[in-house]
Amino acid sequence: MIICKSPAELERMKAANQVVAEVLQALREAVRPGVTTGDLDALAEARIRAAGAEPAFKGYHGFPASLCASVNEEVIHGIPSQRELMEGDIISLDIGAVLDGFYGDSAITVPVGRVSETAARLLEVTEESLHHAIAQVKVGARISDVGHAVQTHVEQHGFSVVREFVGHGIGSKLHEEPQIPNYGPAGRGPRLAEGMVLAIEPMVNMGKPAVRVLSDGWTAVTKDGLLSAHFEHTVAVTAAGPLVLTAIGGPVVARADGYWVSPQAVRS
Ligand code: MG
Ligand code: MG
Repeated sequence: MIICKSPAELERMKAANQVVAEVLQALREAVRPGVTTGDLDALAEARIRAAGAEPAFKGYHGFPASLCASVNEEVIHGIPSQRELMEGDIISLDIGAVLDGFYGDSAITVPVGRVSETAARLLEVTEESLHHAIAQVKVGARISDVGHAVQTHVEQHGFSVVREFVGHGIGSKLHEEPQIPNYGPAGRGPRLAEGMVLAIEPMVNMGKPAVRVLSDGWTAVTKDGLLSAHFEHTVAVTAAGPLVLTAIGGPVVARADGYWVSPQAVRS
């Protein structure tokens, strides 16, 4: 069952997701050569707790950290460590937080210093695919419209979509129904209704889509060893359009023309 949130619950989700957005921005600014993924995890946990929230991932099915830090060919669920970031790496930063009983979830992939042109292109196309997906989030649309938009954009640019991991509903649990694959035909699955909240998260590989999980039981890497990127926003279905709860600076409506505007601007 897909749980629709009441207006009051949506307000609480906005607060949780704004914690995630702010902490993710702090992490982005902290990424540089020489920083360890463990340093970034400590920063994430401290900032989440300072905001009065709890890290959502720490202890989730035994995950040992607050941050998923996935470097280069690591797709998702990288475990923070003493590994130092190097110029030319890319790193996916994925965090979740729970505040007042509701969850937020968002991810970005950022370059470490200067990166190759193809790496930069991978990040750009993956983030664009997320924006195309968010544009599908409207009352009456179908769940599979979201993933179809991701796959179409990604494959147009010669990259591939990971199949094994999917986006998800989110609310008083980190993972709720529905599952949101990043591929497949449009026009399938449940219709979107006001109050649904979705964590949409394309994972995009430079080479082939296949992934495997390392012996640590968590870290998913590309089978071919090529780079992978991951972007995620938590998005509410509203009458005014897709409301991106994890936008920096406050929730924004993703308008059909591609511009992201404040909810006030849509109403007036
Ligand atoms: Mg996430
Ligand atoms: Mg997620």
